[in-house]
Amino acid sequence: MYRLAINPTFCANSCSLALKITVSSVRDPYFKKKRNGGSAEFTKSAFKWKDGKLFLAKCKEHLNIVWSRFLPQDSTPSIVTIKLDPSGRWFVSILVKDPTVKPLPKTNKKVGIDVGITSLITTSNGEKVANPKQFNRLYKKLRRKQKALSRKTKGSNNRDKACLEVAKVHAQIKDARTDFLHKLTTKLVRENDLIAIEDLAIRNMVRNAPPLSTAAFHALNSIQGGSAVKNHKLARSISDASWGEFNRQLEYKCEWYGKELVKIDRYFPSSKRCGNCGHIVDKLPLDIREWECPKCGTNHDRDINASHNILAAGLAVRQRGLGGFPHSLLPNPFGVSVCGASVRPEESKSRKATALKQKPKS
Ligand SMILES: [Zn+2]
Repeated sequence: MYRLAINPTFCANSCSLALKITVSSVRDPYFKKKRNGGSAEFTKSAFKWKDGKLFLAKCKEHLNIVWSRFLPQDSTPSIVTIKLDPSGRWFVSILVKDPTVKPLPKTNKKVGIDVGITSLITTSNGEKVANPKQFNRLYKKLRRKQKALSRKTKGSNNRDKACLEVAKVHAQIKDARTDFLHKLTTKLVRENDLIAIEDLAIRNMVRNAPPLSTAAFHALNSIQGGSAVKNHKLARSISDASWGEFNRQLEYKCEWYGKELVKIDRYFPSSKRCGNCGHIVDKLPLDIREWECPKCGTNHDRDINASHNILAAGLAVRQRGLGGFPHSLLPNPFGVSVCGASVRPEESKSRKATALKQKPKS
């Protein structure tokens, strides 16, 4: 469906009426579906907390909760959220103040983290963490269930059952991913005093993601054990990687445990910049995993080089208190200015193309 938006704007000088017409694709309105679950929030007056039991307003019996963990002693809930997820599971989230959360001991370690598709994260210590292999098994299961759903008659009982099956696999994937991310972020926060990450605009990246090039597709395919389907788009990979959730968890965990999180400007050319001499190459397509700096000849692993740059930029940002901008002023940790010019993407286009030696992935 296309919607015409007409914005009348009055021009003060000429008193004329200018019509600005924009055509945008907007989907039809639709009713909220019951099968997608929902949630309700209960503030203090709407529930009662007595002897470790939760009574909702107008309910005589307490909720029979299977606790995932016990509340800290002497804590009283301030907000209770009841949620039904599409796979039919009920969740109770209880907001409490936890006095047991204390800063963790200092380790004097710093790390830069580059998030990517082939490996979920690459740290400046040279460590690469990929998505767990069990995800592929779940994706295959999801595909099977979705195919089964598509064959069912609309409005039939069997379709509803198949719908629930699909939702259950989605829930499984979500649980596995959340569990994995929690373990990963807790480990990072525990081991490091300072974590530098890129401030990514994930929503924009998903919307504007270009289709994968053939080489990138094959690279992804080989890593995912051949499970990447032919029309696999970058958007799906970015969504899968859950970068946003990863950043969110790091953010609050660093705050809880007294660690420092430095976010650097998303336009900082972390991948294209040589970590050794500061030279910035003009282009570095996604499928090039290893490259050689045309200026100093250093051989770089794409992701490890990026994580080194992120750590260096993070340290510089913290030192100067610049809040991630502008990077053109940042000192290079290796003694050379970042690029001798601004690093904003618009301006990088005007830079002359540099010869780039590429190393084919073996
Ligand atoms: Zn170099």
